Amino acid sequence: MSPSPQPVDVLIVGAGFAGLYMLHKARRQGLNALVIEAADGVGGTWYHNRYPGARVDIQSMEYSFSFDEALQQDWHWTERFADQPELLRYANHVADRFALRDGIRFNTRLNGADFDEAAQRWLARADSGERWSARFLVMACGPLSSPNQPDFPGLDNFAGRVLHTARWPHEAVDFSGQRVGVIGTGSSAVQAIPVIAAQAAQLTVFQRTATYAVPAHNGPLDAEFEAGIKAEYAAFREANQRMMGGFGSLQPPNRISALAVSAAEREAMFEDRWQVGGFGLLGTFSDLIVNPAANELACEFVRNKIRATVTDAATAERLCPSHPIGCKRLCVDTGYYASFNRPNVQLVDLQQSPIEGFTPQGLVAGGVDHHFDALVLATGFDAMTGTLLKLDLRGRGGRRLQDHWRAGPLNYLGLTIAGFPNLFNVAGPGSTSAFTNVIVSIEHHIDWIADCIAYLDANGLATIDATPEAEADYVAHVNTVAARTIYLNCNSWYLGANIPGKPRMFMPLFGYPAYVQRCAEVAAQGYAGFVLA
Ligand SMILES: Cc1cc2nc3c(=O)[nH]c(=O)nc-3n(C[C@H](O)[C@H](O)[C@H](O)COP(=O)(O)OP(=O)(O)OC[C@H]3O[C@@H](n4cnc5c(N)ncnc54)[C@H](O)[C@@H]3O)c2cc1C
Repeated sequence: MSPSPQPVDVLIVGAGFAGLYMLHKARRQGLNALVIEAADGVGGTWYHNRYPGARVDIQSMEYSFSFDEALQQDWHWTERFADQPELLRYANHVADRFALRDGIRFNTRLNGADFDEAAQRWLARADSGERWSARFLVMACGPLSSPNQPDFPGLDNFAGRVLHTARWPHEAVDFSGQRVGVIGTGSSAVQAIPVIAAQAAQLTVFQRTATYAVPAHNGPLDAEFEAGIKAEYAAFREANQRMMGGFGSLQPPNRISALAVSAAEREAMFEDRWQVGGFGLLGTFSDLIVNPAANELACEFVRNKIRATVTDAATAERLCPSHPIGCKRLCVDTGYYASFNRPNVQLVDLQQSPIEGFTPQGLVAGGVDHHFDALVLATGFDAMTGTLLKLDLRGRGGRRLQDHWRAGPLNYLGLTIAGFPNLFNVAGPGSTSAFTNVIVSIEHHIDWIADCIAYLDANGLATIDATPEAEADYVAHVNTVAARTIYLNCNSWYLGANIPGKPRMFMPLFGYPAYVQRCAEVAAQGYAGFVLA
């Protein structure tokens, strides 16, 4: 007979930044908490995504924890945009510095959990056979942690090596002298392509949808800049809290419409931000995300940059996107478009030349045989819901999450799900995480969850559960906000559009400060929209 489940106050799933901070916070609150992590190390995203060129696209001084002043003072980032090895070192540093490792069970994957109404606890089980009885279940398993492995018929025919950017081997992959194919041109591909192009003998990029990318202008972190931020780190973090994405206060958005200035002024203003690099381009004007006509001016600015960079005019045009800029996640690049000027790189547009099948040597697209030694799938993620929907999670009355989310991921405040009491989802659908510096979102979520648990304890309450009405109102709100923007004007992973058969529902909420305020108001009103018992 299997041993009885081990009791814990908080079972945390995932040891990325969210799981690490949740464990630290729970322990500080005197709770008995355990993290279970499928991988054999901490770091989550930065553990798994080891593809060449992987790096953060929000400046390192911002993409880092703020909860501990000594940590943010002591840690030194070497680059403006840290690369994956450095981000992984940082996650390991946090785990060691706060002595978290003994609270993490590695190589342990949650399979499912049932809410036991009589005991008012979650009964969770892992692939290791272990079971836990937890008062609270915190899903810190990541918004982008289920790689999208497209069902390419016949892929198995290919005799060469197949790699997915999100499950990259831990040992270095050497493409020297090899012919490489990359399928996909999203964020991971945009980072990987210049690095692979510089190494491989030949690189063929298969593009389904062209991508907007803005330059990172990455480089060593300027010592003076670092010292300036560190002198007033708390104020810097505070200023970022007021930004729509929880970052970017050094270059706040301009408050002027793109349609209110002359063409020459507009060009100069876009150019200023292009020269700084990063996401700030989208803040050049106040209406780029809400007014399609304004947005189109930014699109054309970037298209002209592509045309000026890529020497072959036909290739340049194929690289020019037609959807609104920002509607799909904007990419931050280091030499992406320029890679297509290399004699060893060619672009295949899958809209014109769809993949017809795979052969032992490669693939056939548009009637042309392409031969490779290695094929890289840069095909993204089943974002925001993929990881939870793989699990067998059952709430009140044995209701399966798959049934509750059949038409899309219903949630309240992006943190809870009606009928799934005491279960918290970090950085998931309904939250602003996808549009933010995600570490900012993680800290906000974990703090809210910890405060909520403290409130329940202080008031002798066992459970918190969102009402279906609050959930329905909240999901409607997320969609109302999205409808005021350009985000519904393209097929993005925000909408679930990258996964065949996934219900189309706009998942993230736009506007971090208003979201934080709403979450705080709900708490201040004694958790309005929830049933506490
Ligand atoms: C390539 C890439 C680049 C990114 N760049 C940025 C960026 O520049 N800026 C930004 O703000 N955000 C970025 N993100 C988003 C990024 O995911 C977040 O910033 C952040 O790392 C998420 O942390 P997390 O702890 O919530 O989840 P993750 O880091 O995804 O960690 C989740 C963990 O849960 C584990 N897990 C999943 N399922 C189970 C299970 N059933 N049982 C046990 N363990 C499980 C996983 O193994 C993983 O370790 C990027 C994401 C990717 C994929």
